[in-house]
Amino acid sequence: MEQLDPRISYRALQSRDPRFDGRLFVGITSTGIYCRPICPARPAKFENCRFFPSAAAAQEAGFRPCLRCRPETAPDLGAWRGTSNTVSRGLALIAEGALDGDDASVDGLADRLGVGGRQLRRLFKQHLGASPIAVAQTRRVLFAKQLIHDTRLPMAEIALAAGFGSIRRFNETFRQLFRRPPSAIRRKTVVALPEGSVAATGVTVRLRYRPPYDWPAMLSFLRARAIDGVERVDDSAYSRTVLQDGQVGTVEIGHLPEHESLVATIRFPSVRALPGIVARIRRVFDLGADVATIGAHLAQDPLLAPLIAQRPGLRAPGGWDGFELAVRAVLGQQVSVEAARRLAGRLVQLCGVAMPIELRSHAALTRAFPGAAQVAAADLKPLGMPNARKLALAALAEAALADPLLFQPLGTVEDTVARLRSIRGVGEWTAQYIALRAVREPDAFPASDIGLLRGAAGRGGLRPSPAELNGRAEPWRPWRAYAAQHLWAADAAASKAMPKEATHG
Ligand SMILES: [Zn+2]
Repeated sequence: MEQLDPRISYRALQSRDPRFDGRLFVGITSTGIYCRPICPARPAKFENCRFFPSAAAAQEAGFRPCLRCRPETAPDLGAWRGTSNTVSRGLALIAEGALDGDDASVDGLADRLGVGGRQLRRLFKQHLGASPIAVAQTRRVLFAKQLIHDTRLPMAEIALAAGFGSIRRFNETFRQLFRRPPSAIRRKTVVALPEGSVAATGVTVRLRYRPPYDWPAMLSFLRARAIDGVERVDDSAYSRTVLQDGQVGTVEIGHLPEHESLVATIRFPSVRALPGIVARIRRVFDLGADVATIGAHLAQDPLLAPLIAQRPGLRAPGGWDGFELAVRAVLGQQVSVEAARRLAGRLVQLCGVAMPIELRSHAALTRAFPGAAQVAAADLKPLGMPNARKLALAALAEAALADPLLFQPLGTVEDTVARLRSIRGVGEWTAQYIALRAVREPDAFPASDIGLLRGAAGRGGLRPSPAELNGRAEPWRPWRAYAAQHLWAADAAASKAMPKEATHG
């Protein structure tokens, strides 16, 4: 296990140091409870404390979550933990339910990640102090606990939403862990809603991040790319339509800076889709990143240091959906961000899924982004773009239909890029861009991107070649995606008043 120094950990606990929130959990042997380092309860004696790098490790050691500091609301830094990309990718798949359900197995998960089952268990133990099964189990329990606390969903729906196979399992797990039924954890003021309410009034959950978080930068990134009919960005919130497993709904995400959280309202007809939708929100808004650590690493390069000082809370926005992001990347080849946005709007008009009026949370949200099936079936002739790119769109849709795991994080970043490049019309830049945003590969780096090359040149500087930039970026590993985000932001700020040039080469 990654070493946690007990003395340092105890000092963090005594001072309620928020920098340790999300990466340190303390189990109290005298009570059997585990806490966040910021718990308002009086710190236990040193000899009664055991320290864990993850909630799952504390839970696997037999501790149950504190009802005061609520470990389920700690920032979830799992996705970018340590230097193991395999663990990061494994956690992303677990968050999407890879270990839920009867036929799920650690060996199956390891297979998808291109490692052996024993190696995966060893890596999880090393980086998180817990087994993959314990991580999945803890995730289910903590998500259920959050829904019990924060929403008015009926218990039966929470059991399904959190990925428990049955309500009986849900009740058993809670009784075992908390020595009381799930309903006893719910605050008295909360009243259960009737069934079907998730689609109408929605479920609202808070999602914590580790500060700093540059919310204005995130919103303006999303605003510049917002597709008419599918997305809407106003001064304080981002909304969009959701198409998942043939059903449609909406999400709306705002910012609660005083709580170091985003707040998401999800309206969707099936509660089983909730964890997957929450995982997508975490991905788009990059909630798992420890940007202070990443920034400290990147700032060692004098080119990046001033950029990081200027935007310490900058995140790397993810894609909502792998196929959607890949389509955006193809539409963005050789044209400006604005032109790509308009093309995407036309595609949505052509073959997007219409939102029933009663499900529109806002009048502007009229369609869901088309899936691969809709694009494959559509006549793309009316799209005003070169024929080669229409063929690339069609090839992308065919490839996504043939391989449902096409945009999953399988194998190394090089494997991912090679897999994507085998699709007609997908070159190195497009494949790296998809890896960065859709597969959430923190080390992806589209070195031939004109915006990156311009950003790396700085004001009046000489533009490097892609090979030169790749060489320069070598010490930025394993966070090159964040370096790219900073270079793009610098380029966007510098070129605001300048004539538009194609951003994507
Ligand atoms: Zn506590």
